[in-house]
Amino acid sequence: MRRALILLAALLAASPVAAAERPPAAADSGVSAPIRDVRYQLTFDSAAAAMRQVHVTMTFAVGGVAPVLLAFPVWAPGHYTVLNFARWVRGFGAAQDGDSVAWDKWDYTTWRVRPRHAGTVRVEFDFAADTLNDASTWARPDFALVDGTNLLPYARGRSLDGPATVAVKTEPGWKVATGMHPAGAAFTYREANYHDLTDMPLFIGRFDVDSEQIAGKWTRIASYPAGRLAGEARERLWHGLEGTIPAEGRVFGVTPYDDYTVFMVFDSAIQGGSALEHQSSNVGVYSPQAVGAPWVVNVVAHEMFHAWNVKRLRPAAMVPYRYDAPQPTTLLWVSEGFTSYYADLAEVRGGAIDSAAFLQNLYGHIQTILGSPAASVEDASLSTWIQPVATNPYIYYDKGAVLGLLLDVLIRDASGNRASLDDVMRGLYQGAYLRGRGFTNDEFWTAVSRAAGGRSFAEFYRRYVDGRDSLPYDSVLGLAGIHFAVRSYRAPRVGISTAGDTASLHVTALVPGGAYAAGGGQVGDTIVSLGGVDVRKDQSFETFRHQWTDSDQPTLPAVIRRGGRELTLDIPVRLETWTNSAMTYDAAATPKAIRVRSGILRGTTDR
Ligand SMILES: [Zn+2]
Repeated sequence: MRRALILLAALLAASPVAAAERPPAAADSGVSAPIRDVRYQLTFDSAAAAMRQVHVTMTFAVGGVAPVLLAFPVWAPGHYTVLNFARWVRGFGAAQDGDSVAWDKWDYTTWRVRPRHAGTVRVEFDFAADTLNDASTWARPDFALVDGTNLLPYARGRSLDGPATVAVKTEPGWKVATGMHPAGAAFTYREANYHDLTDMPLFIGRFDVDSEQIAGKWTRIASYPAGRLAGEARERLWHGLEGTIPAEGRVFGVTPYDDYTVFMVFDSAIQGGSALEHQSSNVGVYSPQAVGAPWVVNVVAHEMFHAWNVKRLRPAAMVPYRYDAPQPTTLLWVSEGFTSYYADLAEVRGGAIDSAAFLQNLYGHIQTILGSPAASVEDASLSTWIQPVATNPYIYYDKGAVLGLLLDVLIRDASGNRASLDDVMRGLYQGAYLRGRGFTNDEFWTAVSRAAGGRSFAEFYRRYVDGRDSLPYDSVLGLAGIHFAVRSYRAPRVGISTAGDTASLHVTALVPGGAYAAGGGQVGDTIVSLGGVDVRKDQSFETFRHQWTDSDQPTLPAVIRRGGRELTLDIPVRLETWTNSAMTYDAAATPKAIRVRSGILRGTTDR
């Protein structure tokens, strides 16, 4: 706050001079002079690594002295947040024939370079590579993850359809992995347009890489640090991919990439993991604990399904991608949520998990929905750009996944299991993507309705997609022989957060004014038992709540340890409404429901 005020004062003092030096803004169209023969060189050697940066040299030809506006993307497609990659640019310079060329900033994300004459212009800068997420550029002493949207600027306002070359300069013995297409010389690549160029991240340095043919295409796993994803854990991931990728391809009847790379970084700065899709690769950043974890197969299956759904078949609002502003769409519940649904399906259809685990995943999605404020998936799709605090900003993943299942069931039920959501996805892929366009909301619902034999989904849309009504879990899932029951009951809320294990459970936070605080409890207490129940063995507190359901006692005893002594606190009993749900395959389902269910689990219809 204070710093901002000092800066403002400095700017005001300087403004008369600055205004006199600047050309009039009205004469500036915001469109760059055309550039051609665009080449980027990325230098990442041990000197750059020591500085945690990638050195970028960009050369291009100009036809005259008109200003060239070089813009950096403000976001990376798929990572729906404005990141303004220009903020990591330092040491910017421009030259012609070895002499420097004038430049200034056109806006905060765009550099304006003023060529002195027609010919080649050379621009150089360093890109700070000390941020780690799935859309970032990040350097270690022997390694760099590079995302093209970060550090490959484009000519503002000009067509993005021109080709460009990328050459990588690195240490002898270091490797490069990328989905970019080789262009002759070592570590030199060429793509036909800016979209493809920036959608193909790179690993540079020391890392592990191996490959296999899956669904007729070479598939690679590139992982950093070397040696981290190895042995049985690597085998298990390969085994997962061997099942899930063909299952995903069968939805569309085509495997659309030339080859595919699964990029994986394991680093202790990451909790859990996240990944970002590209047309022929995905970049995942994971905690070291993710090595060998079964859920990683689900993450990778999700990202790979994006190779069809969103990298190719995409809402019209994001076709073509633009890089200077957000591209909100109401349809992320299809692009992300359905992708989560199909990751679960690919796992069970490909044999990576069994049908019980599929049900467990589904149950997890529903639990997330029930535990989040009611939100429309269309609103959530739009709002993710600002990550609102009032709702779960990513609810369109879980709710979209469950909506995918519900629509799949309704289509199969209405068509006598002759059609499915797979037909909708394949139809949109062929009707929109293969014709060079995105799909609209109307096209989506028309395709759903057609697959369901003309059934109207207007009310479904109004209530569950545009609206915030609770989803019709039991009525629809029953059509697929899945039983879902919710039970409400009144039981005490203690008002604490805990952490620990079966030996020892600590209070890590208190709800202000909650029952535990009211009974004299403190953060740091070690809990032995609550209401006579050893909650160390059931940290969900379910047994405890079960035992105290509808209790008319005024207080319950909490046996705790504090400062080496054992105490018993009297905690007021405050009953609240809890819900309990259970999900099972219905053994008594009708033959039709069983056909729908097995069609979903196997990826088949009865045609
Ligand atoms: Zn996704």
